[in-house]
Amino acid sequence: MWHHNKPSSVLRGKTSDGFVTSDSGFEERVGSHIEPQPDGCWLWRSVAGKGRYGTVNTPWGTYEQAHRVVYSILVDDDIAGYHLHHECRNKACVNPAHLTKLTASEHTKLHADERAAS
Ligand SMILES: [Zn+2]
Ligand SMILES: [Zn+2]
Repeated sequence: MWHHNKPSSVLRGKTSDGFVTSDSGFEERVGSHIEPQPDGCWLWRSVAGKGRYGTVNTPWGTYEQAHRVVYSILVDDDIAGYHLHHECRNKACVNPAHLTKLTASEHTKLHADERAAS
C-alpha cells in the first residue's frame, strides 16, 4: 500500500546530518519523531519502553514499525517480506544507515551465529 501513497520526491527530505521533513504531512509527522543522537543513531521519540521498536500509525490505516517506515521513505520501499537488522543493536533507532535488509533466514542465521560466538 505504501507504493500507492508514496510521492516520487520522498528523497528530498534526506540530508547528511539527519532528517529534514518534506512538505508531505505524513513524512513531516515521521520526521518530527526522529531525534538524531551524537552516536549516529536516530532515536524514535515515544518508544514504549527500553528495547522496544518505535511504532507509527500510517495514513492508510496500518500500524508499522517506525524503522521500517523510515527505511521505506529514504532508501527502499521494497521491504515486504524482508527483515531489517539493526547493526547498532538499538531497536529504537530508525537511521537507515544502521539497518540492513535481510531475508528472514539470513537474519535468523546472523543472530544464531552471534549467539554461538558469544
Ligand atoms: Zn542506530
Ligand atoms: Zn537483527
